[in-house]
Amino acid sequence: FVSFESVVMGPPDAILGVKTRFLKDTSEQRTNVSVGKPVVLEAVKKAERLILENDARIKEYLPIAGDPEFRQATKEFCFGADAKAVKEDRVATVQALSGTGALRVGAEFLNTHFPGTQVYIPDPTWGNHFKIFGNAGLQTHKYRYLDVKTRGLDFEAMLADLRKAAPGSVVVLHVCAHNPTGVDPTTEQWAKIADTVADCKLLPFFDSAYQGFATGDVEKDAFAVRLFEERGLPMLVAQSYSKNMGLYGERIGALNVVCPSKDAMTRVMSQLELVVRAMYSNPPRHGAAIAATILTNPELRAEWLVELKAIVDRILQMRKGLREAIEATGAPGDWSFITNQIGMFTFTGLSAEQVASMEKNYNIYMPSNGRISVAGLTDDKLDHVAAAIRSVL
Ligand code: PMP
Repeated sequence: FVSFESVVMGPPDAILGVKTRFLKDTSEQRTNVSVGKPVVLEAVKKAERLILENDARIKEYLPIAGDPEFRQATKEFCFGADAKAVKEDRVATVQALSGTGALRVGAEFLNTHFPGTQVYIPDPTWGNHFKIFGNAGLQTHKYRYLDVKTRGLDFEAMLADLRKAAPGSVVVLHVCAHNPTGVDPTTEQWAKIADTVADCKLLPFFDSAYQGFATGDVEKDAFAVRLFEERGLPMLVAQSYSKNMGLYGERIGALNVVCPSKDAMTRVMSQLELVVRAMYSNPPRHGAAIAATILTNPELRAEWLVELKAIVDRILQMRKGLREAIEATGAPGDWSFITNQIGMFTFTGLSAEQVASMEKNYNIYMPSNGRISVAGLTDDKLDHVAAAIRSVL
């Protein structure tokens, strides 16, 4: 007989484990800077009301590939409605269980049709990347990304590592607001990355989890994807609406595969549907309806973009506040990286021991890689966090 007694304990998730410890802490000064607190956007509430009033078939299954209106809207949101690949109907798009599900469906597809593909992932990256690609059967490797000394991009090292990858290898690229570092390539550097990808015949797999969250401008934040699209490069793009619409628990995102022709797109679509069918049959309806409504209703879209901008502005404000609060403690070193880094995270460079001390002595919770979610900060916490950082240095 099978005995489940033989099952060993799995390691706790690095970030969700932090939250569990935080919830057990009864101290008044407890502060969780591991994640942001999602607010339900007004545009989302209004979209939900519209959906409730209008959609009579609300509990029916969606097609395998997802909500058709959502699929069209999400691809236009990603590439731009005027993008050649969109106009020529060359993008195979399936709704996905948010960014994570999109990455996984893409990885399954690659492993089935291009077995043995090597996947190059930035170091550091969002921790789940290695597991998602690895569990799908693909071989993962790191490429250098962050220069620990400057807390900036180690651009030459990145390109050198990509040049060493075998043709046909996949390179995972964060579209913007790189997690966890908050360090993005400049537009000039993106052009050089595109050159390298094209010269070395690599296959870019973009992870777009923060469109709008970097600058507050959803068009600007799509720059990298659109540059590659304009160059006619094949690619995959995983999209997530967890952050930019605050739809975390709705699990809404999409996988886009840019194909060379409409004919190839049709064949790729059929294969993506086979992957989805065997994994979860078809995706959930509600998040897709919300996102599609917001993306396609001009009034709601405008309202959403204003709300999104306000969230990003608050994060920028918190970055400034945190930097000033740390500098005011007289902490040694250059803290400009806090305001230079992009997106909702700041990569402090604190060691795992320093992070442990922040938790033990100051009730401040963050993952051991020293990443602070600026979105989780509030004005009243800045001095406490700054003083704690000063003292663990
Ligand atoms: N990619 C990156 C870089 C992320 O930071 C995240 C969320 N933390 C995701 C993908 C996936 O999130 P979700 O599955 O909620 O879309």
